[in-house]
Amino acid sequence: MMIAASLAVIALVTGLLLHHQGESRRSQIRARGAGLTRLLAHVPYAELTARHGGGNLLELLRRAGNDADLAYSAVVGPGGRPLVSAPADGVIIPPVTFAGEPSEWLSEELIAAPGGGGAFREFSAPLFHEGELVARVRIGFFEPGLSLGSQEVRQLGMVALLVFLLTPIFYLLIRREIRPLSQASEQIQNALDVGQVQPLEIHASGELHELLQRFNKLLHLAGGRIEELEFQRTRMLTSSKVLSFQKTRIEAVLQSLPDAAVVLDETGTTTYANAKMEALVGTDLEQINGRKPQEWCTEPELLAFLVRYGRERTIPQRVETVEFSPAGPAKRRLAVSGYPLFSPKQTSEIFGVLVVCRDVTQEDLARHARAEFVAHVAHELKSPLNVLGMYAEQLGGEDGASEEFRVEAVNVISDEVDRLSTLIGNLLNVTQIEMGSIQLKRQRVRLTDLLGDLLESVGRGGRADGIRFHLELPPELSPVLVDKDLLRVAVTNLLTNAIKYNRPGGTVTLAAEETPEALRILVRDDGLGIAAEEQQRIFDKFYRSESEEVQGRGGHGLGLALARDIIEMHQGTLEVQSTLGQGSEFAIVLTKRAGLVQQAI
Ligand code: ADP
Repeated sequence: MMIAASLAVIALVTGLLLHHQGESRRSQIRARGAGLTRLLAHVPYAELTARHGGGNLLELLRRAGNDADLAYSAVVGPGGRPLVSAPADGVIIPPVTFAGEPSEWLSEELIAAPGGGGAFREFSAPLFHEGELVARVRIGFFEPGLSLGSQEVRQLGMVALLVFLLTPIFYLLIRREIRPLSQASEQIQNALDVGQVQPLEIHASGELHELLQRFNKLLHLAGGRIEELEFQRTRMLTSSKVLSFQKTRIEAVLQSLPDAAVVLDETGTTTYANAKMEALVGTDLEQINGRKPQEWCTEPELLAFLVRYGRERTIPQRVETVEFSPAGPAKRRLAVSGYPLFSPKQTSEIFGVLVVCRDVTQEDLARHARAEFVAHVAHELKSPLNVLGMYAEQLGGEDGASEEFRVEAVNVISDEVDRLSTLIGNLLNVTQIEMGSIQLKRQRVRLTDLLGDLLESVGRGGRADGIRFHLELPPELSPVLVDKDLLRVAVTNLLTNAIKYNRPGGTVTLAAEETPEALRILVRDDGLGIAAEEQQRIFDKFYRSESEEVQGRGGHGLGLALARDIIEMHQGTLEVQSTLGQGSEFAIVLTKRAGLVQQAI
């Protein structure tokens, strides 16, 4: 670089020198040419063209002048014809024609040499004889080219020498100055390689020292800022992880809720909905999240609730619940509750609402059934009480004197008391089982005896309707470990149903079977039978068939529920097989695995 620069300096100096040399020679030629032309123009024409000795005046002048720059001199006639000429050796005078214009009488122009190779700077002036323009005098000089004189060459040599001597000195000086910079560059590269901001350790002086110090301060500042940002980033990462964990946990809680749940923000947009809500409204979660309820909820009453809760500033501050039955074939009852979500920092601020939609069909049915049950129980209690009251009144009156009436009254009162006591007994048992306060008092029971007794006692009432009873027991039955009183209640309920829902003259069979796995007690009748769609529901509390034939017979829908509860308490099952119009068979199955059955000895 330095050598190239020094050569460039030398070339520049040479160029300038050549240019200066050319310019100065050109101005010399101009001065000489103009002066000589003017001088010759004042020489009389005859003198100029006359011959003197061995030549004309122009030749004499050339030889005497010994001017190396002078190329030619000539006197030419008006048509350009040369009258006298004195060219230097080897020079051909270029032909010219003169215009007669006075403005061109004195002229200087650059003329190309004939045959190429250079140019002449020609000066010309008019020659007058007796006031007439008779000829022109032309003086031509070689146009100076790019050549240096010996003195200039010496000067140039001196300059070149000086430049070559100064170059290494400059080089060393510059290297010394830029060494800290290249060290700085190396250290910056190292820092970049290890990816750490570290200060530059460089010894420098003067302005460079100050620059490096400022640069180090800047690095220190940047390092501090990076550390701070890194710390903030880590903190934000941690809190975002915590938030995402909390969000996942809250979502898991909402997801595992047994009810459909949806969260609306303060603008009424859905921010979360669980899978149960998806199933409830029948729309994909992707269609629900991030949209307004108007876009995904087709159930008008639910939509009205969501829209009311979703409106900004009108979110009620209390939990409100609305119940409605959605349209559709399935009779369902839903309860929608809105829970305002209060900002944890500013509890007066509500930032959304959690809407929970619960299927309360079963509760609603139970509520209705309970209300019906109370009415029914009241009725059931009232009817025998009326009868009792009536008979009591009649016994106190004239009718009481009749022996026949007294016998009838005693029988009726006894039947009604039985009915009342069964109802009250069932009620008590159901309540106790529901409250979990009933304790099984297990004892070894011989089923053959128990079932025989039961049919005997229950059958007494049924015989009046002409019902026939059969007891089908195998010769040997393993004893069972059961609560005798409760099993008696269960079997009694099955038997009373078999009688109650029978036809006049029908049959009721009480049977028992034993297999290696289980012991089955069967209550069979050939009465009304139960429709297939009702066979699951008859075990629900308070359920009674809606058929007229069933409704016409007294009952309170508790018998089977109680029987099933009792059997399940014994880890057994109660099953039904029935054909409408043909009869039913209820089977109590006590598995031997449950340890309730002792092997027959
Ligand atoms: P209740 O007999 O007091 O109505 P249950 O719980 O004993 O209540 O019976 C529930 C319903 O089951 C009855 O209302 C009746 O519709 C049906 N059911 C029970 N046993 C029989 C049966 N042996 N034959 C026909 N239907 C029956």
